[in-house]
Amino acid sequence: MTNQKEQQNYKTQYAKVLLNLPIEGPFDYAIPAEFEKDIAPGKRVWVSFGARRLIGVVIAVTDRTALNKVKPILDLIDVEPVLNKEQLQLAKKVSEYYLCSWGEAINAAVPSSLKNGRTSVKPRHEDDYTSILPTEDLKLTLEQKEALKEIEKSIDKRQSDVFLLHGITGSGKTEVYLQAIGKVLKQGRSCIVLVPEISLTPQAVERFKSRFKERVALFHSRLTQGQKYREWKKLKDGICHIVVGARSAIFSPIQNLGLIIVDEEHDSSYKQQDVPRYNAVSVSIMRARLNNAVVVLGGATPSLESYFKATRKEYKLIELTERIEKRPLPKVKILDMRQELIERKRRRIIFSRLLTEHIEKALGKKEQVMLFLNRRGFSTYANCKKCGYVERCKKCNVALNYHSDRKVFLCHYCNYQKEHINICPSCKSAYLDYFGFGTQRVESELHRYFPTISVSRMDTDSTKKRESHKNILKDFADRKTQILIGTQMIAKGHDFPMVTLVGVVSADTALNLPDYRAAERTFQVLTQVAGRAGRGFSPGEVIIQTYVPGHYTIQSAINHDYKDFYKKEIVLRKELFLPPFSNMIYLSLRSYKEDRAKECAMLLAKYLLKKKLPGLIRQDGPCQAVVYRLRRQYRWNIILRVKDLYEFNPGLKAALKGFRKLPGVILTIDVDPA
Ligand code: ADP
Ligand code: ZN
Ligand code: ZN
Repeated sequence: MTNQKEQQNYKTQYAKVLLNLPIEGPFDYAIPAEFEKDIAPGKRVWVSFGARRLIGVVIAVTDRTALNKVKPILDLIDVEPVLNKEQLQLAKKVSEYYLCSWGEAINAAVPSSLKNGRTSVKPRHEDDYTSILPTEDLKLTLEQKEALKEIEKSIDKRQSDVFLLHGITGSGKTEVYLQAIGKVLKQGRSCIVLVPEISLTPQAVERFKSRFKERVALFHSRLTQGQKYREWKKLKDGICHIVVGARSAIFSPIQNLGLIIVDEEHDSSYKQQDVPRYNAVSVSIMRARLNNAVVVLGGATPSLESYFKATRKEYKLIELTERIEKRPLPKVKILDMRQELIERKRRRIIFSRLLTEHIEKALGKKEQVMLFLNRRGFSTYANCKKCGYVERCKKCNVALNYHSDRKVFLCHYCNYQKEHINICPSCKSAYLDYFGFGTQRVESELHRYFPTISVSRMDTDSTKKRESHKNILKDFADRKTQILIGTQMIAKGHDFPMVTLVGVVSADTALNLPDYRAAERTFQVLTQVAGRAGRGFSPGEVIIQTYVPGHYTIQSAINHDYKDFYKKEIVLRKELFLPPFSNMIYLSLRSYKEDRAKECAMLLAKYLLKKKLPGLIRQDGPCQAVVYRLRRQYRWNIILRVKDLYEFNPGLKAALKGFRKLPGVILTIDVDPA
């Protein structure tokens, strides 16, 4: 051994480098003498690949290579590794599960502020905040105490158990998280707290900051590059021991991990829609296993997958069944819009008489109102009453939504915009009519009904500017605005004690989507929205307007009955081998040429059927994607249902190799699509 070691001194050294490419690495590069001393796993380097210069991450240094010709490393970027061994390992697991390359998975763990090669950024001033939230542990209720005890047992045993903390809204889950974190910190270990991107409001973050002060680092998309870098550095240097953040925080460089909390674990923002297409909930379990850390998945409406695992004892189920101080759950009333239309002899109604009356009553008592509609814009399509012409997107062929604030027609898939017109481009008549309504329409109707009341709207259109999100919520919290209208952005995490009425303008928008999760998503969002009412001392009231009042999803939502919903929904899933009875994999092929997309999709489907991959339950398609033409590309999907991903993936990966290089088409793979 020693002989060999000595020989290495004058032998060329090679670095194994991973690149952010859909080709499995690592790739070997020779280490020039000038970098030999400093090169190490986890550091980034510049290399040439084909005609390109790319940034790669070194994962190992060796003295041999199987290649005949090896290019040299062009430059070494980092003084210190940006990724540690555990992060590299985690990325490897992610790549195996989500069928991307290891290099693509690693890319998710490198903060965006570092991606262009910079390692330092000018610091910026942090927001000052004053807090009136408790700075010390609260005295727990019996249920909370029991929950904490269970979690602490696993923390003490350093067992990578997964808990599902199912607690109704307002049952005090956050206090349980906070005290579990306290326990882990006392042991000298650290914690990751994931919250949905949308609920990363100052209000939510403050609950952690006021308890743990400067030990908390923050990770979310609204930070500037400089802020992101600073937070990342504080974790890496071990100055902070808690990170609160959106999904990418699961890859943060936290050391000595003891606990991962995922609040509202069902939330779809945990799924990344670009490569690597990971879900932070699954990654949190992978990361916990690597560290003997505990995972707590929390929420009022667990995903069917998680609840199913809890019933199978794969996860430990803890339930919080009561609200703090026994505050009653809000009364939920259904309003049958079919009846309303008949009685009022109208073709279209946005506000029922009942909802209008209750808004009036609440306003009269100087209370606040939240109105929810899961659709932005003014109208969902414009249609000519005379010839039937519909304004469509040129690139996606879907109907354009009218946005009254900017006076444009907008594609919700690609953001294509078109000037507003009054005259039908097809028959030149002036009969353009607007169908379907979004939040902007609700806002303008409200102004008509209540001209003196101050109303604000929160959706992706009204929160484009960095601070606007914060300002809208602050104005509402300060009661400068009395009615807040919004999309699911207002459904989560907010705690406004003066809100006594929540109106769901239409419960059916999500229910009609062509998605097997449509019922689940509707149940979740209705429950969440309802949870916004009655957070203070006056009991809340919720009015849900719907055209399908008898639907089991709406019925269980008004009764606040998750288990009832679960029981009905799980039967349907089982019959169809849908998750949790399988894992789905979407293979999508897209091309600018319609024929090419179809031809390749057919070819791939036939090829896969012939392969008879072990673990495949069912293969469907190829079929056209729901939005068949998106950004001028034609899209086909093949849908696989799989029994065990770990068993199935290696075979699929090998089978797909040739299809990744077909000219004129792009193949993408999405495991557990959202
Ligand atoms: P959840 O996260 O389950 O919706 P929260 O954690 O927001 O519930 O708790 C609801 C409210 O009850 C919060 O204002 C919180 O500060 C308060 N609270 C939680 N636990 C206790 C407790 N043990 N004693 C008093 N108040 C509590
Ligand atoms: Zn026309
Ligand atoms: Zn479009």
